[in-house]
Amino acid sequence: MPSYSYRCSEGCVFDALYPMSEVPDEIACRRCGAVARRGITAPHLSAAGGSAFRLMDRAAKSAHEPQLVDRLPARAPGARQAVTHNPLHAKLPKP
Ligand SMILES: [Zn+2]
Repeated sequence: MPSYSYRCSEGCVFDALYPMSEVPDEIACRRCGAVARRGITAPHLSAAGGSAFRLMDRAAKSAHEPQLVDRLPARAPGARQAVTHNPLHAKLPKP
């Protein structure tokens, strides 16, 4: 449900949630009771940040353009393989 910004004749500003089909142009101010008119504001489409959008774009792209590899990634010399000590991981199937 979209959020709409209202400003009353006394200067109070507040937001209200209404379905798009039922949004009124004027409502009573929540603080002083005066007539508050709906303002024109930028749409607040999502609370997701830039990293969330990058993740969604990357996931959508990988569905249609998966990255292909022809070998395992190179391991740095002396690097140790990660070992888990969580007992729950022992129940996982072995490759
Ligand atoms: Zn007011």
